[in-house]
Amino acid sequence: MSSSQESTSTLVCHHCGALNRAPVGRALTSGKCGKCAASLATPEPVAIDGALLARLQARDTGAFVVDVWATWCGPCRMMAPAYEKAASAFADRARLFKLDSDQNQAAAAGLGIRGVPTLIAWRNGKQVAHEAGAQTGSTLSRWIETALSKS
Ligand SMILES: [Zn+2]
Repeated sequence: MSSSQESTSTLVCHHCGALNRAPVGRALTSGKCGKCAASLATPEPVAIDGALLARLQARDTGAFVVDVWATWCGPCRMMAPAYEKAASAFADRARLFKLDSDQNQAAAAGLGIRGVPTLIAWRNGKQVAHEAGAQTGSTLSRWIETALSKS
């Protein structure tokens, strides 16, 4: 751990996988990937695969949330509108991703998922929250807010 990590975050670009350094606290919506020039924010939830998740877990020190879901899962569909709203509301502060547990079974198993949906949040390179079951409306926003305030 170097002291430089206190002032900059490493962000894995969810488009190309490149590592980007950004000052801690800078709005994600104002940052672009230095390699592919794509936005580093997710104003809408972005689908990721197991390989990108592994890279995020290994290298990313920003804040991100993963919704582990499945196409056949009713509660997952029920939570989707709230998750979309949260992606927009938290666009400057956290990235919201979705991982299809059927298409990425090894990755989902590696996360210790017992059912879908499960929400997991990471911050500063650590998993800071893990919650099974659908959350809607303000409950979901509060859960993300709490996760982002943990260090
Ligand atoms: Zn990129």
